[in-house]
Amino acid sequence: MRDQKLFESVQRELNRQRENIELIASENFVSDEIMELAGSVLTNKYAEGYPHRRYYGGCEFVDEAEELAIERLKEIFGCEYANVQPHSGSQANSAVYFALLEPGDKVLGMSLNDGGHLTHGHPLNFSGKTYEFHAYGVNRETECLDYNEYKKKVEMIKPKLVVAGASAYSRIIDFKLMAEIAHQNGALFMVDMAHIAGLVAANEHPSPFPYADIVTSTTHKTLRGPRGGIIMAKEEFGKVIDSAVFPGMQGGPLMHIIAAKAACFYEVMQPEFKEYAVKIRKNAKALEESLKEEGFRLVAGGTDNHLLLVDVKSSCGISGKKAQRLLDEIHITANKNAIPFDTEKPFKASGIRLGTPAMTTKGFNEDDFREVGKIISLRLKNKETEDIKQECLKRVKILTNKVVMYKDLNYIK
Ligand code: PLP
Repeated sequence: MRDQKLFESVQRELNRQRENIELIASENFVSDEIMELAGSVLTNKYAEGYPHRRYYGGCEFVDEAEELAIERLKEIFGCEYANVQPHSGSQANSAVYFALLEPGDKVLGMSLNDGGHLTHGHPLNFSGKTYEFHAYGVNRETECLDYNEYKKKVEMIKPKLVVAGASAYSRIIDFKLMAEIAHQNGALFMVDMAHIAGLVAANEHPSPFPYADIVTSTTHKTLRGPRGGIIMAKEEFGKVIDSAVFPGMQGGPLMHIIAAKAACFYEVMQPEFKEYAVKIRKNAKALEESLKEEGFRLVAGGTDNHLLLVDVKSSCGISGKKAQRLLDEIHITANKNAIPFDTEKPFKASGIRLGTPAMTTKGFNEDDFREVGKIISLRLKNKETEDIKQECLKRVKILTNKVVMYKDLNYIK
């Protein structure tokens, strides 16, 4: 018997994804093929180990999927080694730390307040609890990465590992410079390119290869694949990373997700993906222009990539939390986000983070994003006004009616 209650919830979520303007910078919409593979019979298969070195029988076909994923990933980024098994970005990072570090070792990562990720040393995260994390960050004036301060910290702390990459940073990161400084001081250099992987693949952001010793990523953000993690590295680190992922951190790999990752990498290798990545950035610029015209203050003055951090507190006197709710009510989905040197607690925050990858997938162009900027402004500046709310809802509907996602999907049978 079909669990009607559950399928109805999933249908409501599908409707939400169809009807809302999705601006969460870390989300995207996968293709029908990726969706099909993520829900395929491969979910039934145990395959502990690696291709041709499994602990289970019957792995010959899932081996093919994993080998395709590995080979494609190596080709896309021009790297020597790849592991496609991490279940998530966090697990990719934990496997790298497990492979390279001993508990208590010194690591330097980007400050969470300035845009770093939880797994880059948050005190409540395993990373901050297990290793001695120190933080570098952005300059108070420019709100851009302060490479001088970074250099001083590397020289003073002498970390074993430096972690670059961020969850909420809107400017280009100079991986070459960061790697040089790390290596000159005897540190290994790791890049977590989760947010920008799709831009890197399409040459729309400078690549961390060949400067980084290890690169981790998620597959579900700008890369537009299934939810998951990956690790790439110089060949010399391959063996320790493989054994840190399995049996170190994980048991059986998610073979359905690995097949879906292989399909994602196939899509990334097509010329259309380059066009997609170019559009992501153009759309982010259009949104930037529109919000600036409306008088909003953008952290770091704007964007070079797929996301923007908007200081809603100084722009219209409300918290990020409130802005998130006000936008939710007009079917625009975004998330509250701390801004550098924020005086609010992270749960309230002074900013919101807006990203263009998901709606670019749905076909939004620069004009659409200019209109999105105007709708956001109208709503946030007029706060609780009911007729403005209705006008915003109408204008959101005009935009979302232009595209139909997952036409043939229907969970209510
Ligand atoms: N690394 C960065 C830079 C991220 O932004 C994120 C997720 O937001 C992760 C790692 C973690 O990925 P996951 O949520 O798959 O564990």
